[in-house]
Amino acid sequence: MRTEVLSVNDAAIARAAQIIRSGGLVAFPTETVYGLGADALNEDAVRKIFIAKERPFDDPLIVHIAAAQQLLLLARHIPQRAWELVKKFWPGPLTLVLPKTERVPAVTTGGLETVAVRMPGHPIARQLIELSGCPIAAPSANRFGRPSPTTAQHVLEDLDGRIELILDGGPTPIGVESTVLDLTQDPPMILRPGGVTLEVLQEILGEVRLLSSAKSEAAKRSPGTRWRHYAPRAQLVLAEPAELEQIVRELLKDGKRVGVMISQGRLPCSPDRLSVIHMPSDLSEYARLLFRVLRELDAHGVDVIVVEAVEEHGLGRAIMDRLRKACQSS
Ligand code: AMP
Ligand code: MG
Repeated sequence: MRTEVLSVNDAAIARAAQIIRSGGLVAFPTETVYGLGADALNEDAVRKIFIAKERPFDDPLIVHIAAAQQLLLLARHIPQRAWELVKKFWPGPLTLVLPKTERVPAVTTGGLETVAVRMPGHPIARQLIELSGCPIAAPSANRFGRPSPTTAQHVLEDLDGRIELILDGGPTPIGVESTVLDLTQDPPMILRPGGVTLEVLQEILGEVRLLSSAKSEAAKRSPGTRWRHYAPRAQLVLAEPAELEQIVRELLKDGKRVGVMISQGRLPCSPDRLSVIHMPSDLSEYARLLFRVLRELDAHGVDVIVVEAVEEHGLGRAIMDRLRKACQSS
């Protein structure tokens, strides 16, 4: 299959919508990362997403909608607090997990009885969903396990020849995926930290729990959290600021080519085998660059990437979540 890449204009979006309606796959920008979309209610189309990404079939997809009313088609029971969150955060980077209706095929939800839904804020995503006339199931448009794509070029690197079309709408503004909030339990639980922070959700909902990173609980509640994710080809090592320099020195002594993502700490020298990238101290800026920098360091051909830990508050939680998963060995 030939993968077309089109700069966004009305004709390109119309073509993308037509592909979605006829059961094909289109990658498109959202405010978080690029998504790989298919008609969420068409089993055969959704199955193609898993095949193109090489994603395990029990890893559920997020369904994207363009109007809050579409939630009624997808979710069987919508509690009052869900509507409050919808009013406050949609469109935006918050995904709600709710009991699913019969209309949603099992393949879309990885066999679960719940469905994850979000209304993206990106105008191109919204226009595409509206024109397609159906909810669009869209995981990140990368090969499973790779860093999420924040440009059309990243999508092409991973999925060329596997999907019909990539809509190129430039780099995505947030750069990390949505917050996934499970509203089927009380208190609600964040299954994946993201663009809408724990602190902000607590202000509205009171108590909110964070899914423990213990593998067994994570696997039960949110199958997609089980595997190594977001990972560059190079080995990734997460370092506290105080130990960073020492770790880098030892790797260099072992003859490794090393990439370093540094935010606060300092490195005394920059020998040949070292590629240093200074990450912004502003966490929103950091999040926007995170996946791009991982891919860039891979392109430099480093063996190991040492990344300095960031503080775990606000968006820092989403950043550390991605970095930890990228470090996992499986
Ligand atoms: P991605 O589509 O790659 O952004 O990943 C979506 C993630 O959302 C999955 O890996 C799951 O961890 C989570 N998710 C989606 N649907 C559900 C659901 N019904 N229940 C729990 N977690 C979900
Ligand atoms: Mg993903």
